[in-house]
Amino acid sequence: MTTPPLPGELVFEAPRRGKPAKHLMDLDLAARKEAFKELGLPGFRADQVSRQWLNRLSDNPEEWTDLPADARGTVKEALLPTLLTPVRTIACDEGQTVKTLWRLHDGALIESVLMRYPDRVTMCISSQAGCGMNCPFCATGQGGLQRNLSTAEIVEQVLAGARALERDEIAGGPGRVSNIVFMGMGEPLANYNAVIDSLHRINDPAPAGMGIGARGITVSTVGLVPRIRDLANEGMAVTLALSLHAPDDELRDTLVPINTRYPIAEVLDACWEYVDKTHRRLSIEYALIKGINDQAFRAEKLARLLEGELVHVNLIPLNPTPGSQWTASLPRDEAAFVRILRNRGVRVTVRDTRGREIDGACGQLAAATVE
Ligand code: SAH
Repeated sequence: MTTPPLPGELVFEAPRRGKPAKHLMDLDLAARKEAFKELGLPGFRADQVSRQWLNRLSDNPEEWTDLPADARGTVKEALLPTLLTPVRTIACDEGQTVKTLWRLHDGALIESVLMRYPDRVTMCISSQAGCGMNCPFCATGQGGLQRNLSTAEIVEQVLAGARALERDEIAGGPGRVSNIVFMGMGEPLANYNAVIDSLHRINDPAPAGMGIGARGITVSTVGLVPRIRDLANEGMAVTLALSLHAPDDELRDTLVPINTRYPIAEVLDACWEYVDKTHRRLSIEYALIKGINDQAFRAEKLARLLEGELVHVNLIPLNPTPGSQWTASLPRDEAAFVRILRNRGVRVTVRDTRGREIDGACGQLAAATVE
């Protein structure tokens, strides 16, 4: 059950325009069977098509030799509209980081990024076209919210990457997607139902879903407190990442404006409840911005907030958006920040900045294309 909206929460609700056509991936397995019956096909065909689509990663019905040819055509026609059309694909890191800009049926643009590492493949996906959270350092935030993505529009980003990998189209040979991070465009918890459904498609075992382990899935949020509490009750132990960026409300009010509604103490309280219920370590994201949030006293304050908790801090060197006066912290300030946290026993790493040369972070490719 989702918490009912609080007074004023409609502010976060996306306009209901541009709804995409119904797609197989919008439906859970029971609803897929129902939809197949309405098409005059037996329910077990839904299992077969689901396995082809989600597990064999075949988006070409002609390959589905376990189904009669006319059934394949019927399903394709009724339930598999094209949702994502690639506009640009850009690679760097010797082809091991690939960013795709997609156009949706109504012209909205979103991005996804595939990042290949020696031990894993991570896909960074979008949950909304644009974003309504208005964080001043984030490229997506500057354009406002266009609309929520449907479940299928979220899932198809993952499947597109998974297909490309399986077909040996990514440098490094065929592979599988192991990790998913909701760190592309949008605030995932402001599109709660579609995000939860997409988590099921990604996490549930075949034929309901892709079977990617919850341990490899991260949902990143500005800190929508009621939705964090809802997520804790979904029974899916995905990793929660909180975009904190400041240890004091005065500064966080300016960097993450929703903080005026859900201040740090309340957000962390909800996060610790999430940790208690799921036994998963909380991730804290903290973009280091020169002269803004990278002082030693702020590192001390952050350490005091987090010490003794099941938590890991990811420091992200700021990726400056075009025209911004802000830049990444100096290396010595970054090093001091890390040291202060470590001295208090808080686990911390500095995130590597894959894809920076292709505007790989934070909505910049879409922003560049709109201009
Ligand atoms: N709305 C969600 C998820 C999308 S952003 C959230 O805010 O968590 C994923 C992460 O990238 C967030 O921590 C966000 O604050 C960070 N980010 C956005 N713009 C950035 C920039 N220019 N440089 C570094 N990190 C940035």
